[in-house]
Amino acid sequence: MALEESQEPNQLHFLVIPMVSPGHYIPTIDMAKLLAQHGVRVTVVTTPVNTLRFGSILDQAIQSGLPICFLEFPFSYNEFGLPEGCESIDDLPYMGLSRELMQAYASLQKRVEQYIENLNRMPNCIIADTFLLWPGETAKKFQIPRIVFDGMNCFTQMCNHVLYLSKVYETVGESEPFVMPGLPDRIELTRSQLPFAFNPNFKGMNDFNEKLRVSESKAYGVVVNSFEELEQGYVDEYQKVKGNKVWCIGPLSLCHKDESEKVQRGKKSSINKNECLKWLDSQENSSVIYACLGSVSRIEPAQLIELALALESSKRPFIWVVRAGHKTEKIEKWIDEVDFEERTKDRGLLIRGWAPQLLVLSHPAIGGFLTHCGWNSTLEGVVAGVPLVTWPQFQEQFYNEKLVVQVLRFGVSVGAQKTVFWGDEDKSGEVVKSEEFIKAIEEVMEEGKEGEERRKRAKELGKMANKVIEEGGSSYQNMTRLIEDIKNQERTTNLS
Ligand code: UDP
Repeated sequence: MALEESQEPNQLHFLVIPMVSPGHYIPTIDMAKLLAQHGVRVTVVTTPVNTLRFGSILDQAIQSGLPICFLEFPFSYNEFGLPEGCESIDDLPYMGLSRELMQAYASLQKRVEQYIENLNRMPNCIIADTFLLWPGETAKKFQIPRIVFDGMNCFTQMCNHVLYLSKVYETVGESEPFVMPGLPDRIELTRSQLPFAFNPNFKGMNDFNEKLRVSESKAYGVVVNSFEELEQGYVDEYQKVKGNKVWCIGPLSLCHKDESEKVQRGKKSSINKNECLKWLDSQENSSVIYACLGSVSRIEPAQLIELALALESSKRPFIWVVRAGHKTEKIEKWIDEVDFEERTKDRGLLIRGWAPQLLVLSHPAIGGFLTHCGWNSTLEGVVAGVPLVTWPQFQEQFYNEKLVVQVLRFGVSVGAQKTVFWGDEDKSGEVVKSEEFIKAIEEVMEEGKEGEERRKRAKELGKMANKVIEEGGSSYQNMTRLIEDIKNQERTTNLS
């Protein structure tokens, strides 16, 4: 490989293995870019469609000579009963195929190992997503230090940790609030808000979750897409759990500075950059509500209608990113039948498919972000310095809501009570009504004292976030520490 031949004698080489879902792929590639900016040679394992979808983020970086490249392997759709071209969770026709997707991805293990065997020098480190088991086996086979990439945060890690240890959720009813034991703040949740790993309705996944936990505990360390100042108490606690091998190196989205980079991040944007900016430029500062619910949630049309009606009733400008997975047709039919776009055309912009989220959030017109509390979106909201309207759906999103609303106090909850069954959304039985959305939107946007203070806190967090990855900032220093740590590993191995 061209890059390998040109590798400087003492240059470190990291092999990065992302998870096949946009919410994981995107920050992992950001991290790879950041590592390369710090002088590490980085090889990112990928597959054809994912290279096309996410590779463009790196085009400029590669062209500018950063030591980073993709290592692409073919994906075996047919062998695992997947539709042609389906290489990512959000491409699945239904969630029941996620096991097959993971198996097809795991079948890359052999090829990755052949690649390592053929190298003149072993990679110094493997950084693999926390949801992947096979990189742990590969790292062990070749005695390469493995670091887990945690796309979440230390608050989530500590919530999971105390739940695993205490099992407190086992003794309470589904909707009975209980206090998470031993955390720096008093955090109350109910069992029906917990991630699937603690939900008896998802027993089938227990075995897999347990394997992930064991695999993570055997890793050399963890990199986290967060920053110390955001959640210091939780970082400290997590460091204790992990023997000081935690490196908070985020917010990773900040590795994209230019508009062109921001607009290319993730999939190809469904809206033209200029059209989007023109619309935003025509709005007053801090006036627009941006509503986007991540890359994989498939919210029921009946629920989306409640949200749409609330956006209309709020009488504020809004951007609504419309996505309902395989039920998109149904919501489109409703939009058409009630003439929703015409009714809101003076104030509303609908984006179908993929929004250029970083570009939108960084525009001064944005005044609030209605989010499902996926960690990337939440952190991108922090970076943008805007208050959040929180509407968690599943997994760790209810934890993130607590961090935003209760600990950092820059968001307002719409009041979701229980987790949505991913893949079986219609069985969840909870619908947040439009009045609840309106109430939360009003609280976030209102001009009174509370709203003002919330906005001020959001701005302060945003300022902090933008500093930490600059030279001298905590995340910059942690990146340097991580690289030094791996260098020392290398020296120790060479001496022994
Ligand atoms: N995203 C985007 N445009 C969209 C939807 C999502 O750019 O229309 C990006 C968003 O900026 C974030 C990621 O996709 O970086 C979604 O990750 P998150 O953790 O928020 O949620 P998930 O999709 O994993 O539930």
